[in-house]
Amino acid sequence: MSKGLLIVLSGPSGVGKGTVCTELRKRMPELVYSVSATTRQPRAGEENGVNYFFKTREQFQEMIENDQLLEYAEYVGNFYGTPRDFVEETLAGGKDIILEIEVQGALKVKEKFPEGVFVFLLPPSLDELKGRIQGRGTENQATIDHRMSVAAHEIGLMENYDYAVVNDEIDLACQRIQSIIIAEHCRIRKSC
Ligand code: ADP
Ligand code: 5GP
Repeated sequence: MSKGLLIVLSGPSGVGKGTVCTELRKRMPELVYSVSATTRQPRAGEENGVNYFFKTREQFQEMIENDQLLEYAEYVGNFYGTPRDFVEETLAGGKDIILEIEVQGALKVKEKFPEGVFVFLLPPSLDELKGRIQGRGTENQATIDHRMSVAAHEIGLMENYDYAVVNDEIDLACQRIQSIIIAEHCRIRKSC
C-alpha cells in the first residue's frame, strides 16, 4: 500500500487557515485532520480533542520529553505541537493527513518529511489580515499587534514552501488547494 500524502497548511494568524481547512474537510471527507496540542486557553466553543488537545505547560513539557510531538513551537506566548503517532499511523495506513500549523513548526516538519506538500496561505493584503484578526474578536489589541509583527516575518519565509495560495475568497482558496492535492497525487503516485 502506498503511503498517504502529508499536507501542511500554514501562514500567518488570521489569514483563514482554520476556516479554509474546515471547508476543505467538508469537501474532502477522506482527508484526515491532525488535532494539535496547545497550552493556549480554549476559546468560546472550542472543544478538547476536536479543535485542540488543551494541555497545561507541565503536560506539554512531558509530551516533548517523551518524544510524542512531531514538531512544536512557541507562538505568541503559548506552545503548540503536532502529536507524532497519529500522523505516522495515518500516513502508514495510506490516508492523506492535513496539518494546520504556524510557520516555525511547518519548517521543522519539512526537515523530517521533505516529501510533504507545503502550502502557504496568503492574505490579499496586510490590512485585510489585520481586519480579519480584529473581526474574529478573539484576541486583545496587544496580542493582535504581536501577531501582526510575527506575520510580517512569517510572510518572508514563504519561499520555503511548495505552493502559495491567496485566501481572497474561501471557495476559491479551497478549490486551489484541492487542485494542488490532486496534482500531487498524480505527480507522486504517477496515477490520477
Ligand atoms: P487562522 O486559522 O489562520 O488564524 P481563521 O480561520 O480563524 O484564521 O480566520 C480569521 C478570520 O477571518 C475569521 O473571522 C474568518 O471568518 C475570516 N476569514 C477567513 N477567510 C476569509 C476570507 N476568504 N474572506 C473574509 N474573511 C475570512
Ligand atoms: P490559534 O491560537 O489562533 O489557534 O493558533 C495560533 C497559531 O498556531 C496558528 O498559526 C495555528 O496554525 C498554529 N498551530 C496550531 N496548531 C499547531 C501545531 O501543532 N504546531 C504549530 N507549530 N503550530 C500550530
